[in-house]
Amino acid sequence: MERNLLLTPGPSLVPFLIRETQAQEIIHHRTKEFREILGKVNLGLKYVFCTRNPVLILSSSGTGAMEASVSNFLSAKDTVIIVEGGKFGERWKEIALKYNLEVISYKIEWGSAPEAGYIKDLLDNHEEVKAVFTTLCETSTATVYDIESIAKVTKDRDILLVVDAISGLGQDKLLTDEWGVDIVVSGSQKGFMLPPGLGFLSISDKARDFMNHSSLPRYYFDLGKALKSYEKNDTPFTPAISLITGLEVALNLIKREGLKERWEKFCKFAKAVRAAAKALGLNPFSQWPSVSVTAVVSPEKIKSSELVKHLRNKYGVSIAAGQADFKDKIFRIAHMGAIEEQDLVVGFYFLEKALKDLGYKVKAGVSVQKIEEILSEGVK
Ligand SMILES: *Cc1c(COP(=O)(O)O)cnc(C)c1O
Repeated sequence: MERNLLLTPGPSLVPFLIRETQAQEIIHHRTKEFREILGKVNLGLKYVFCTRNPVLILSSSGTGAMEASVSNFLSAKDTVIIVEGGKFGERWKEIALKYNLEVISYKIEWGSAPEAGYIKDLLDNHEEVKAVFTTLCETSTATVYDIESIAKVTKDRDILLVVDAISGLGQDKLLTDEWGVDIVVSGSQKGFMLPPGLGFLSISDKARDFMNHSSLPRYYFDLGKALKSYEKNDTPFTPAISLITGLEVALNLIKREGLKERWEKFCKFAKAVRAAAKALGLNPFSQWPSVSVTAVVSPEKIKSSELVKHLRNKYGVSIAAGQADFKDKIFRIAHMGAIEEQDLVVGFYFLEKALKDLGYKVKAGVSVQKIEEILSEGVK
């Protein structure tokens, strides 16, 4: 199948306008021309991150920015709290352990969300804690965490709140400065509509203080160096030039539509996708479903990994299976970045076919009809 409609929670669809921009001649990065682009991109990132603080761009996938937000702000043997409710919470823990941090793991069931009150109790009982690491949208379970409430218990203490918003940013609401989040991490291949290859992170004043006292080793991801260059609209090393020229276009598209409007749009998409799944007799998996991606419990007799494979190979539609223990139990459909109503309609049209091929009873068209019903609500 030549066609490939990407409804996966990263990488996600890249609009033609962005691909076209990336195909242009490479310009040199130590030029006025490129610095102007960086200047605009730096402003645009502040808009999407809802912050007045710097948002650094790293040449790596999102995980590089996650690692940088451990290695630049802490020291060996520092104690950190990590919310572990899925694959990406686990990744925070793996990184922290590699850097010899002491980890207090707040383990929650997959599909559930952490309670701010529990984090408050942990903090009250462990004065040695230096940072809380958590996630906006835990992509493996398609669950959104209540970052606003968590920030309420962290912001007046001498600790950092670090949020992995790699998949959530742009769809799931996150008010970095207003809520008091110190470090927000993201990446290019989800809500930003770009190919993979850029990591982003915003850095609060409090985080900068921590940086001055941090003694973990770093070289390529030395954010002190990156911040010095940032002030001059420059980068310490060769940046991923064509991704950054693409980013300028992506940020313009986001600005033109409006961040708040996009939050609302994706909220509606998420609602439509959940309703479409239910119309097929299937249940959404998460107790706190995210606006960026929906996880659906696969029919009992169908392994979700098989469904995903069949849908891609036969119909050219990519969705994601579950991860770890949920590999064969759930499938995940993204509604982020450049995904629009027509993509969801096409996705469900073929999802119905694929389910039917695998022996699941489907009344043709019910899920597509549901999407249309929900999305035309309030439209005159
Ligand atoms: C995709 C994702 C990551 C991993 O990002 P990479 O770009 O693959 O390194 C981390 N956290 C979350 C929540 C994600 O969705």
